[in-house]
Amino acid sequence: MSEKKVILASTNKGKLREVREILDGTGFSVIPLSETGFEGEIEENGSTFEENAFIKAEAVAKALGVPVLADDSGLEIDALGGEPGIRSARFMGRETPYSEKNAAILENLKDVPEEKRSARFVCAMAMVYPDGRCLSVRETMEGRIAYEIAGANGFGYDPIFFLPEYNMTSAEITPEEKNAISHRGKALRKMAALIAAEQ
Ligand code: IMP
Repeated sequence: MSEKKVILASTNKGKLREVREILDGTGFSVIPLSETGFEGEIEENGSTFEENAFIKAEAVAKALGVPVLADDSGLEIDALGGEPGIRSARFMGRETPYSEKNAAILENLKDVPEEKRSARFVCAMAMVYPDGRCLSVRETMEGRIAYEIAGANGFGYDPIFFLPEYNMTSAEITPEEKNAISHRGKALRKMAALIAAEQ
């Protein structure tokens, strides 16, 4: 099978690793933004995951003249009115370690009972072609906010995202288990089928 190269408009190492794992064996090889020479600043000023995914993919596709894939994702916590949502990466500052962000969320929710701790990861993916065509998908992974930080797999908010069906957080299950059920895994498999149908 000849490898098709796809540029991922992201500098997030956790996302890049998962996108590579999920696309492994599908004939796509993923090129990170850092290897493309793209030096522009992208302002993620959309008001939805879909808009931000499109903004990122379009900016890079226009600059480089090749098809570009982007993932915009985040954690919606119902007890916080859906926050941090599209602000998940910026929540408490981009450079703040997730150990601190996760501890702050647990502290914030310390009096919230189990049935009100529902949350979901959302992933919107956009594929933008230089001629302006755009493919878009959205998927979620439902769970709830844990009471304690647990696990070292995954990235970001995974150590506080509890999956009742596993009785573990998404940082405790294996990468293969996470990719099989995750917002990103489901979105990317749908997107790969759309891309294949497009060409
Ligand atoms: P984006 O780069 O603006 O899309 O930011 C996505 C942010 O959402 C990440 O930096 C994480 O904070 C969070 N996030 C998205 N997907 C996941 C996941 O699978 N696990 C943990 N955190 C995630």
